[in-house]
Amino acid sequence: MKFKKPRGTQDLLGKYMEKWSSVEERITGILRSYGYLEIRTPIFEVSDLFVRTVGESSDIVTKEMYMFKDKKGRRLTLRPENTAPVMRAYLENGLQRQGGISRFYYMGPMFRYDRPQAGRYRQFHQIGAEAIGTSNPAIDAEIINLSMDIYRAFGFSSLQVRLNSVGCMKCRGEYMGFLREKLEEYKPELCDDCRQRTDTNPLRVFDCKTCVSVKEKLPTITDHLCEECNEHFEKLCAILKQMGVDFVIDPLLVRGLDYYTKTAYEIVCPELGAQNALCGGGRYDGLASELGGVSIPAVGFSAGMERLMQILPDELDKSETTMTRAYFVVFDDKCSIQAMVLADRLRSAGFVAYVDFSMRSIKKQLKSASTRGYDYAVFVGQKEIEDKEVTLKNMESGDQVTVSFEKLVSYFSEKGVVGIE
Ligand code: AMP
Repeated sequence: MKFKKPRGTQDLLGKYMEKWSSVEERITGILRSYGYLEIRTPIFEVSDLFVRTVGESSDIVTKEMYMFKDKKGRRLTLRPENTAPVMRAYLENGLQRQGGISRFYYMGPMFRYDRPQAGRYRQFHQIGAEAIGTSNPAIDAEIINLSMDIYRAFGFSSLQVRLNSVGCMKCRGEYMGFLREKLEEYKPELCDDCRQRTDTNPLRVFDCKTCVSVKEKLPTITDHLCEECNEHFEKLCAILKQMGVDFVIDPLLVRGLDYYTKTAYEIVCPELGAQNALCGGGRYDGLASELGGVSIPAVGFSAGMERLMQILPDELDKSETTMTRAYFVVFDDKCSIQAMVLADRLRSAGFVAYVDFSMRSIKKQLKSASTRGYDYAVFVGQKEIEDKEVTLKNMESGDQVTVSFEKLVSYFSEKGVVGIE
């Protein structure tokens, strides 16, 4: 083979892809149950959209963007994240004129040129939600609870929510002054990157994995919040407590995107090692005005699909998401036509039906039904066609029964349902 997939990317296929799809389905079900509606924006955007919002001196913009020029010389970028594109779409489509709160969810690939390692890819996938239009801290709590619900739905009850407030443009500006002064003092102890960050974007020092001992000696933003930010944070903490959502306040949490204001949080799985953040989010009240619109408060999160897949068992609890699946074993052309007709009836009733047209031996077809995880093998041979009935083989127990064509769907409905939603 002359070609390999680009470094840091993955082919999703086979059982992994099946698991992936059912994970996506379960998550979108949760998002929709909160009244969030899907939004799809382009995979690439004008580069400046990210430069202006994620931040000129952020790692994403300085090192990680897949940037290119099109034939007309326009600077475009494969999206490294999707909050700025969603806000761009919100404003461009004039949704602010509708008033109230717009709730969106999205999923899809994001691109960051970073050193690939366990849990870190160059093309990765995020599922996220954005609630645009209110500064009420109750919606910050909704977003945090919603993102936790995703993990609860897969049985994870002990993940940690790390919460902080990164202040607003006003109090953060003042705080950055103090921080810079302190960092000047510790300059000899800082790594090269952090020395540069002291001038360009001192908050980013908190993201550094090497300057740990210095970080602990620095003043934290949490101690320098203005009254409004403080009040927002206290209200949010109180709501979360009332809702029974556990969290720990982490004054060192700043997140890698510059647009965050006030609330910033992460859901972490300590067992995952270096790349232990499953999900990150927060409030971004300054983003809309940065894009040239009026000031519109908003809050959201983004969850990494690959990292969720990593902590899930290979086999998901099938009962909640899958329909009964029938595998039609076919012997010749006449049988295959009858099988197609019956398969259609099952599909119309909400079941999954697969027809094997390979004309392989029965043994091979049955083996394929088993490896693909089908619940029943359905035989439609010459004799079955004459008698207008099928032979059904339960793939788990091995039991066989004959059922008339007429009763096939009702048999599946009565006996075969593995949990239609
Ligand atoms: P961020 O957009 O940086 O706030 O990231 C949100 C979530 O996306 C993280 O918590 C990770 O789960 C996931 N994520 C971010 N970058 C990557 C990457 N390079 N590879 C895989 N997952 C990622």
